[in-house]
Order: sequence, then C-alpha cells, then structure tokens
Amino acid sequence: MERIIERAAQDLVNSKYAITLTGAGISTESGIPDFRGPQGVWTKNPEAERRAYLGWQRFQEDPKGYWEERLKASTGALGELSAVEPNAGHYAIAELEKMGIIKCCITQNVDALHEKAGSKNLYEYHGSFAKLRCVSCNARFRRDEFDLEKLLREGQLPPRCPSCQGVVKGDTVGFGEPIPSDVAQHSLEEAWRCDLMLICGTSAVVYPFANLPRVARQRTIEAERKTEAGLYAVQRAPAVTIIEINAEPTPLTHDMISDYIITGKTGEILPQIVEEVKRIRT
Ligand code: NAD
Ligand code: ZN
Repeated sequence: MERIIERAAQDLVNSKYAITLTGAGISTESGIPDFRGPQGVWTKNPEAERRAYLGWQRFQEDPKGYWEERLKASTGALGELSAVEPNAGHYAIAELEKMGIIKCCITQNVDALHEKAGSKNLYEYHGSFAKLRCVSCNARFRRDEFDLEKLLREGQLPPRCPSCQGVVKGDTVGFGEPIPSDVAQHSLEEAWRCDLMLICGTSAVVYPFANLPRVARQRTIEAERKTEAGLYAVQRAPAVTIIEINAEPTPLTHDMISDYIITGKTGEILPQIVEEVKRIRT
C-alpha cells in the first residue's frame, strides 16, 4: 500500500498538467450515500432510480409544474445537502490545487463540497444543488437570487433569466438532459490537455462523464525512430498517466484505461498522497 501511494505522489510531482475527476464515492465519508456502491441509494431502492429518470422529462413538459413540485418536496434523494461538510478527501484535492499540482477538478457530484473545501478551478459536470441555471444561455444563479416562494404564491413560476428571459431550472443535470455546453466543452479540453488524471470515487458508468478518461487515454506521444535497417518508424507512448482511487475496481480498471488503481477510501488515501508529495518536494 505504501509503495503505491509513493508511486502516485511521484507521478503527481512529475506531472506538468494534472487534473482530477471525482464521483459520489468521494462524498460518502461526508455522510452522503452514493448511488451504486453496496450502500447506494439505488442499490437499496431501485424505484428511486426509476423516478430519477423522470425529472428532466417533467421539466420539459411542464416547467411550472416541475417548479411547484420541487418547492413542495422537502428534500431530494440525497437528503438535506446544505448542512453537509467536506471530508479529508475534498480538502486534499483543494490542497493539491493550492500546491500548483492539480490544475482543475471535474466533479459529477452535485453536493457543492469541493467548492466548500476550497477547490477553485472547478467544473460541476452534473451541476450543483446550490445553484439554478438558465437553459438558454447557461447563466448560473445562487438560489437566493430568486424569491421562489413569492413566484410560487403569485403563480409566476418558472423563474426567468434576467438577461435572456430563458426558463430557469435547478442546475443539477437530470437523466436524459444534455450536459451544459460550457462545462462539457471545458471538461473535454481538460481531458485532452492533461498528462495525469486522478480519478476518485466513481463507478465510471455514467456517460458522457465516463468518456473523459477514455478520451485522455486515446492520446499518444509520437516520435520518429530510426530502425536498425535504417528505416524510420513511428514510436507511440501514452501521453497520460491515469490513476484511480476507488473502493472497488471499475470498468476503467477492467478495460485497462487506468494505469493502476489504489483500492480504499478517498478520505484516507488522498491525505496520505498529499503528505508524500510534501515529503518528496522538501
Ligand atoms: P456511483 O454511486 O455510481 O459510484 C461510486 C463509486 O465510489 C463506487 O464504485 C463505490 O464503490 C465507490 N466508493 C464509495 N465510497 C468510497 C470511498 N469512501 N472511497 C473510495 N471509493 C468509494 O457514483 P458516480 O460514479 O459518481 O455516479 C453517480 C451519479 O449520481 C453521479 O453522476 C452524480 O451526479 C450523482 N450522485 C451525486 C452524489 C453527490 O453529489 N454526492 C451522490 C450520489 C449520486
Ligand atoms: Zn439566460
């Protein structure tokens, strides 16, 4: 175990442009259940998964009804998220960014815990529970920028975007809903650019997010090489090191997209990696 942590720390130190991708697994130690782990919301309650698929459809058919139901419902499937605090894994990622090693964090999580932990260059791929978004121009708003209760009382729902009058919905991306184009574009660029990808706590089965490591893996560095016979050949080497930290192997492990996996808890492993990075650098 120690050796593999040393290896990950060394790879991070050697990298020029490391990025991190995270999923629900990084937040389980903050008390938020994941969806597909052994204690996941859907593993235990498949009906909740079926309902989750209906949200975006509902919004498209009837934005007013979507908003009325949303405001009347007490909490979402993940419970009350505003009271939850980041854990050691979130803080470790923010610290690696502060140290100049991690250049950006792309998360699938909607819990806003990376933001709370201090990550700055952050892409919330599936949105944030704490924000609202205009479906026309992608502008994001804090919830308190709209008096939703008043709009409900006055029959004025759905909220409208102040700059383009587009319909505003919750920022979280529902099933079947396209990933907001700005986040989708930036994430692809980061995956294309990075030379190290640290993937933490995701089952890597939700697409298109799960494509990002596959996109990165396709890149190769090419060099011309003279063969013994005096001919030139092209030599290809992978352009990226992909490391997973997850409780269990994933399709990325099985398909050999990742170079190696550190199995265990992100809240324990990530801080150990940070300590090791500090040791190497001093
Ligand atoms: P997932 O539930 O499909 O998979 C989580 C993975 O993390 C599993 O492989 C599990 O074994 C592993 N895991 C659990 N706890 C861990 C820990 N402490 N350390 C390391 N690994 C751990 O999650 P996903 O891949 O992110 O896909 C679920 C989708 O649902 C996401 O797209 C996300 O938008 C949403 N979701 C978000 C939250 C959140 O915001 N916290 C929670 C649940 C689901
Ligand atoms: Zn707008």
